[in-house]
Amino acid sequence: MEPTPEWAEKEDAEDPLAMFREEFLLPDGVIQLNGNSLGPLPRSVPDAVERVVRREWGEHLIGGWWDDGWWEAPVRVGDRIGRLIGAGPGQTVVGESTSVQLFNAVTAAARLCPGRGVLVSDAANFPTDRYLAASVARLLGLELVETPVDGLGRVLARHRGEVGPVLLGAVDFRTGALTDIARTTAQVRGAGGVTVWDLSHAAGAVPVEADAAGVDLAVGCGYKYLCGGPGAPAFLYAAARHHAALDLPVTGWHGHAQPFDMADEFVPAAGIDRARTGTPHVLSLLALEAALEPLEAAGVEAVRRKSLRLGEYLIQLVASVLSASGLRVVTPSDPDRRGGHVALRCPGAPEVSAALKVRGVLTDARPPDLLRLCLNGLYVSYTDVFRAVTALRDVLADGEVTR
Ligand SMILES: *Cc1c(COP(=O)(O)O)cnc(C)c1O
Repeated sequence: MEPTPEWAEKEDAEDPLAMFREEFLLPDGVIQLNGNSLGPLPRSVPDAVERVVRREWGEHLIGGWWDDGWWEAPVRVGDRIGRLIGAGPGQTVVGESTSVQLFNAVTAAARLCPGRGVLVSDAANFPTDRYLAASVARLLGLELVETPVDGLGRVLARHRGEVGPVLLGAVDFRTGALTDIARTTAQVRGAGGVTVWDLSHAAGAVPVEADAAGVDLAVGCGYKYLCGGPGAPAFLYAAARHHAALDLPVTGWHGHAQPFDMADEFVPAAGIDRARTGTPHVLSLLALEAALEPLEAAGVEAVRRKSLRLGEYLIQLVASVLSASGLRVVTPSDPDRRGGHVALRCPGAPEVSAALKVRGVLTDARPPDLLRLCLNGLYVSYTDVFRAVTALRDVLADGEVTR
């Protein structure tokens, strides 16, 4: 790897995923390195949405539920996302916001281990997750224990026999550190607890292997690496072994065993259908379905391989081109411990990110001083990484940013 535009161009010319860049409608001259906040618009989406609105809704009206497959969409799209996270069919459903799915999953996890009074929550997790964990603990009268993932062993030992639901982030949304999902899940299961993984920063970015890793429950949003667009519905995965006992608090008639009986009492459907709620957000759901096409065609493994290499290149460029800047990479250098983005400790990160945006490089900042660069191999090139680092060097050298 060399810090030259020629090296980057040569890599791009040999990149087997290079053609996927054309599958995204990115504005000219924009380098999108904040796809972990909102993924770009896949070319497949606008026509799909147009078809759903004009033909399915406009012409077929209520017939769309059957003739156009709206009724099955939450589980059909769920299976497609399931394949991307290593889940066999019939274990993933799509619908609702991330908050609702988290509430659903964490409460259901607590109900899977009655009598256990401690709810453990990842202290470095995304705010929504931490708020929801606290809310569920309050609602169910559980003791909330927050811990960083590397302190989990101590918490399980201190609360031996008491820990029930354990809500963890797979990839740290700040540092980009990836947790060993299989090992941690086994650790929690060994202590009698039930894991709920938030895969928002993992789905579509890293090969999760949900089934093989023995994951109990998982949740993730649809608009980051899955590119489902703003407000895309979230997904919920529940391992088949839990289905019979899975008691989800957010119920709706689509999750009923006999939805069209309009019965007085809720009887959950068999299998993952019980995780459906009421009428789903069909337009957003079908936009998300269309958005999965390029990722499915490329394959998560290939995207991951390239993303790691882009990250390696970025880390090397920071060490060479930006060596005088005082920036530090906070993301683990071990590829097995790295998620889809690389975070730099950069004083004045919000101002630096704003100055980069003026130069066409989209990044984001997270308090207190982290600059995040998302390296999605589906649409980011080696030349993009080289240009982004050059822009960063210029921004820092110009003194246009007060740090
Ligand atoms: C992005 C993200 C969310 C987003 O929650 P919304 O309700 O969709 O805003 C939740 N959890 C994690 C870990 C995330 O990375």
